[in-house]
Amino acid sequence: MTDESAPTVLVPEVDEVNRPFWEAARRGEFLLYTCANCGGHYYPATDCTQCDDLAPPMSWQPASGLGKVVSWIVMHRSYHDAFKQQVPYNVSLVKLDEGPYFLTNIVGCDNADLRYEMPVVAEFQEIAPSVTLPRFRPLSEGSSG
Ligand SMILES: [Zn+2]
Repeated sequence: MTDESAPTVLVPEVDEVNRPFWEAARRGEFLLYTCANCGGHYYPATDCTQCDDLAPPMSWQPASGLGKVVSWIVMHRSYHDAFKQQVPYNVSLVKLDEGPYFLTNIVGCDNADLRYEMPVVAEFQEIAPSVTLPRFRPLSEGSSG
C-alpha cells in the first residue's frame, strides 16, 4: 500500500563495512574509517592507500565531527521525488579536521550565507526509521574551535 502523502526518502545502502558508521550516527557519533598502521582516515574501503601495508587492520574510530566548507552548489531543481520538497538545497564538500573530505548538506544556514572555509560541526538527523544522516551546521560564534 502506498501512502501518497508520505514524501519519498532516499536512504543509504548499509553493508557489512559501513554498518558501524550508520549505527554510530544513530547514537550521534561521527566515525572515520581508520588504518591502525598509520592512522590514515578513509571512506569505507578494504585497505589503506597511505602506508605500504597491503592489508592493514581498518576500523571505525571516533572523529571530531569538525571541518570547514571548501565547496558547495545550490540545487534549484529536483531530479528525484525525494528532493522535491527540499529545493533549493545545498550539496557541500566539507574538509574534515582529520583530513578527509565529506560530501554533505550544510543545515542551519541560508544557502546565500555559505562561505569558503566556514567552520562547521556534524549534527545528526533521522531521515527514516533507523536511518540517521550526518549533516553539518555552522559553528556558532561563541563556540571554541
Ligand atoms: Zn595506513
